Amino acid sequence: MNLEAIIGLEIHVQLKTKSKMFCSCSNASDDTKPNSVVCPICLGHPGTLPNLNEEVINYAVKLALALNLKINPRSVFERKNYFYPDLAHGYQISQFEYPLSQNGFFIIEEDNKKIRIGIERLHIENDSAKSMHVDGETLIDFNRAGTPLAEIVTCPDFRSPRQAKLFLQKLRQICRYLNISDADMEKGNLRCDVNISLRPRGDIKLYPKTEIKNLNSFKSVEKAIEYEIKRQTELWEKGEKPEIQTTRGYIDAKQITELQREKEESNDYRYFPEPDIPEIFISDEKIDKLQIEIPELPDEKIKRFINEFEIALNDAEILSNTIEISEFFENTVSEFQTLVSQNDYKKEKSKITKLITGWITSELFKLINKENTNIENIKISPHDFSKFIFEVYKNTINSSNAQKVLKIMFDSGADPESIIKENDFTQINDENELEKLAQKIINENAAQTEEYKSGKENLMKYFVGIAMKETGGRANPEIIETILRNKLK
Ligand SMILES: [Zn+2]
Repeated sequence: MNLEAIIGLEIHVQLKTKSKMFCSCSNASDDTKPNSVVCPICLGHPGTLPNLNEEVINYAVKLALALNLKINPRSVFERKNYFYPDLAHGYQISQFEYPLSQNGFFIIEEDNKKIRIGIERLHIENDSAKSMHVDGETLIDFNRAGTPLAEIVTCPDFRSPRQAKLFLQKLRQICRYLNISDADMEKGNLRCDVNISLRPRGDIKLYPKTEIKNLNSFKSVEKAIEYEIKRQTELWEKGEKPEIQTTRGYIDAKQITELQREKEESNDYRYFPEPDIPEIFISDEKIDKLQIEIPELPDEKIKRFINEFEIALNDAEILSNTIEISEFFENTVSEFQTLVSQNDYKKEKSKITKLITGWITSELFKLINKENTNIENIKISPHDFSKFIFEVYKNTINSSNAQKVLKIMFDSGADPESIIKENDFTQINDENELEKLAQKIINENAAQTEEYKSGKENLMKYFVGIAMKETGGRANPEIIETILRNKLK
């Protein structure tokens, strides 16, 4: 059977405002003692009044703008009524009929093909408390109660598990660029439910969907969808395609989904306008002001890096991975420009930017990953890093000593010039000096030189090796090799 998967996502992004959504409790309560960051408002005591945190609106509008959504000039909070032990109010304050924003889209790229994912809406709501199941008992931590969420509902525009994963990864990157959420799935500040159904290719009808919950990583989203496509394909082939809407939970350890409940009809939450919070009005001026605060986003940055610095797409993507990496790169390039004349920079631009890109993405990242840190926390400033690149560029140090210099800079934060001087790392480029050294090597290795002359050419590595050893790694390997080749002709 030729079936296609129709996939949509429902995503919750926890916004990292300083305080919670409707009270002044701290919103940074990840590691604090359970039930220590609470007040009568977020505990839902009768008679308390919510007070909307303006920052929640600002954060959500920025995210909505980045996802090309239209901001509604008027939106309304509504009570979504249901009973659950982690919901002391007996209702969630959410948006239903008049959400903050609607009708957006987001472009992802799969195998060099651009795919447009429609976004139905983004609205704001408060989070519930957290139930924890410990030794057969359920405990409730109210620290999370009242933290702000942006809920994003996409159109059913995904056709593969990978597209869903790519979307979520890009969404995480955007949230971090905007500095509105860490959007870490493992920590639960990015959560995602998947809706999926199959249909014969060419059919335009939508069949009853299956909702998948308990997805705690990008990988589990991908795996759960893969599993569900396989499971539902088998049902279709047996002539038993899903006839009603169901909810299934993903079991990470087994990489399968299990039936949780069957829905005959949609839940009745008895939404009604929240009487304690005024309607929200968002003016064009406010939207313009927030738009200005949005930094250059990854897609634009990648394009600019390719044009401005003449680097490859793949490098531009790596350097735009986080704002901090991109800033380190750009600042290094601009610091480097103060070390050479404008003319030299223009002439050698692509060589220089390639050199900088190469040293950041290989050696510097290796050191950063080994220490499990981030570029914003290292001891090397773009200023010192540009000076280091300049020494490599001038050939003052060869690449093996350059690695040693970088390691010392990374560990101590010292500047490259003094490291090179103190450790005597300066490369020997002087041809007279290297000429003498080459002659000495030939004299002392008579047998090997004969072998080389009679055709065993890979002995050249051996000779260059001796030269490096004798000079403590300082001989310019290319020059000494040329001299040796000429002498041994
Ligand atoms: Zn509170």
